[in-house]
Formats: sequence, structure tokens, C-alpha cells
Amino acid sequence: MVEAYFKNAAGDFYVEAGCCLSCGVPLHVAPLNFDADEEQCFIIKQPDSPDELEQVLEAINSQEAGCIRYRGETREILRRLVESGEGESCDDRTLTREFEEKFRNIVQVAFTSSSAASFLTTLIAEPKTRLGYDQKPRYRFKPIKKAGAAATIELAWYEDKFHVVTVSEGQSGIWTLRLKLSDSALRGLSRLIHEWLKALPGATGIRWTTEEELRTGGGQPSPY
Ligand code: SF4
Repeated sequence: MVEAYFKNAAGDFYVEAGCCLSCGVPLHVAPLNFDADEEQCFIIKQPDSPDELEQVLEAINSQEAGCIRYRGETREILRRLVESGEGESCDDRTLTREFEEKFRNIVQVAFTSSSAASFLTTLIAEPKTRLGYDQKPRYRFKPIKKAGAAATIELAWYEDKFHVVTVSEGQSGIWTLRLKLSDSALRGLSRLIHEWLKALPGATGIRWTTEEELRTGGGQPSPY
């Protein structure tokens, strides 16, 4: 039985007691729902809107120590947690058995751009300027490569571990980004690309899918 920190607001989401590594993620990602004291963070308000729920789910997917948990029974929330690789964060594992982990490595977005290379240039323009705590560029990019109507970029946020993203245009104005399935970093890469797409002025209709969901019309608005 996981012990909840005593300051959590009553409800389905909670933070475990005594597991803090001071990651700071929840207050950054979901400031309306989390607070922290000198010991750790905790839920100050259960999510009561779709936007807040998205932010709390993002916090669970971004946390460093796995201490944000879900003890509720809402099927859709259980599905999303399991599919995004956070099934361990659900208290009742019997309720999660019908779902399985999925890697949504494809995202489609509506955006006005003249070419795939131009799309990528716009997408990384702001992230390129970000500095890390050591005042060095937070992300590293290799030059954009064009391949016919598609374009590819490699990016890294840790040492020389570059990850590949390929962009191509499907229907007019709908861009498809494919994140190369390489290792466990895919989840981090998909969160990063999602953050950049959400910040892209004029980008709409973000849809994350697996290959099968792309064919069948499934998917969801976020990778987690
Ligand atoms: S999510 Fe965990 S590690 Fe991060 S601040 Fe909260 S209690 Fe600490």
C-alpha cells in the first residue's frame, strides 16, 4: 500500500510520501494542481477541467521519481496512463489489465508552410535559442536534410544521443512528423515535440498516433 503525503487534496490523484528527488516538474507543468513544501510536492487541487487533467497527466509522464499516482477508476484516465507507459502509477492494477502500452511516434498537425524543411526551421526556431542551466544551448541540432518532399532533423538534449524526426506533407497543409522508434527516449522526444508544436503559432489539430491508428483514423491530441 502506497502512503500518500498528508497534504494532498482529497481525490484520485495524489503524491506518494517520502520519495522526493526535488525534480520540480509538477509545479512547472501543472501549477494550478500542485504545490510543494520543504519536503516534497503534493496535490493542492484535483483537476476539474480538461486542461487541468491534461497538465496533471503530463506531470505524471514527466516526473522523475514516479511519485505522482492515480487511485481512481475512470477508464479513460487508466487507459491513457497505461498506454503512455505509466501503468505503474495506477493503484488498482486489476483495472489496468485491459490496456497495454503504446508508442505513439507519429503526429499530424495542420500548419501553413511552404515545405517540410521550412516547417522544421520554424518548429525549432525558438528551441534553438534556449539555454540550459550552464548557459549552453539546451538542445543541439544537426542540419536539416531534404529528401524529396520530406525533410529530416536530428536533435539531442543529452550528450551525443541524437534522435531523428522526419516531416512530410500529406493532404494540403497537414504535416506528418515521424519520430524514429529507437529506445526509451521516445517518450521524452514525443513530449518535447508536443511542447514545440503546441507553441507553434497557427498550428492546429495535433493528433498523435501509432502506425495502425494513422491508417484507421484513431489517435489522440497528446502523446501521453
Ligand atoms: S514529483 Fe516527486 S520528485 Fe518531483 S517534486 Fe514531486 S515529490 Fe519531488
